[in-house]
Amino acid sequence: MEREREKVTLIALAAGSFLTSLYAGYRLDGIGRTIELPLFGIEFHLISTPLWILAGLATLLCLQQLFHEIWHHGVWLVGIYALTGLGTTLFYVMFDQGYTWYLVTLVLLLLALFLIYWMVLEMYALRSHIQSELPDEEIALSDWLPALPTFMLFTMLSYYCYTKWYLGEDGWTFGYARQGYLLFQLLAFGTGVYALWIPQGLLGRHIKEELQESEVLHKLLPGGGGRCPECSGEMRARGMACPECEERKRVAFCNVCELYVASCSGCGLGAQVGAVCKGCEQPMGGLHCNACKHAGPVRFWSST
Ligand SMILES: [Zn+2]
Ligand SMILES: [Zn+2]
Ligand SMILES: [Zn+2]
Ligand SMILES: [Zn+2]
Repeated sequence: MEREREKVTLIALAAGSFLTSLYAGYRLDGIGRTIELPLFGIEFHLISTPLWILAGLATLLCLQQLFHEIWHHGVWLVGIYALTGLGTTLFYVMFDQGYTWYLVTLVLLLLALFLIYWMVLEMYALRSHIQSELPDEEIALSDWLPALPTFMLFTMLSYYCYTKWYLGEDGWTFGYARQGYLLFQLLAFGTGVYALWIPQGLLGRHIKEELQESEVLHKLLPGGGGRCPECSGEMRARGMACPECEERKRVAFCNVCELYVASCSGCGLGAQVGAVCKGCEQPMGGLHCNACKHAGPVRFWSST
């Protein structure tokens, strides 16, 4: 419930800072005194230019908090946005400056397409991984898939309108270049949030569990790569509840050898249950509870 309210707050903050940034960028005449940078004759407005940049960064920060479990997807999305925006702008502004600019824009747009391809591959790999673990889970990505090219298209259209407006040309904007820029920016923002929302909901919790699992395996089997000491098969993390006080303990388990690795009560290192601890040479007869100090065979503990 807490997390739900946090999500709503973050999405509202992201939308708010996005609108602020959009408005500051939209005021082409600028707010505040104009300062001319000596470089390329770029104009800089004392209030609206920093506002545009800072509010844009605040938007990214809110989105990062919102989608922290899958934020590398967010970074790729920002990459798609930047490459597409830059490519489109360069294409129309440098239209008559020779064909090298065509090549530059082509490369930028192809890189954006490559990022989309990469994101799709990653999502499908993750889905088949989850389905191999949980065959009953139905995960459909068909609604999510079109969101990425649509996001790129909206970004292209918005920067097309922006350059037309900036150059004072009509193009195919029917005199609505300014409004077109705003509309397609909003649509791109919405599609981008959607493109992150779906994987976060589907996979976020799983990714978190997986991270916890790899943490447990890494702690109990340092240098072992999470492999079973007997058969070298992959081990899984498993929660075990103490028969006396129900305190939960995380152990590594190989279901081929039915072998457990748990932290040793003597030295704290991971040791194979039923063998001698390699750290302190104390025999590991069973599992040891950190809370009530109960120690006994694994069969008395229930897995959770
Ligand atoms: Zn998994
Ligand atoms: Zn094994
Ligand atoms: Zn030990
Ligand atoms: Zn206990």
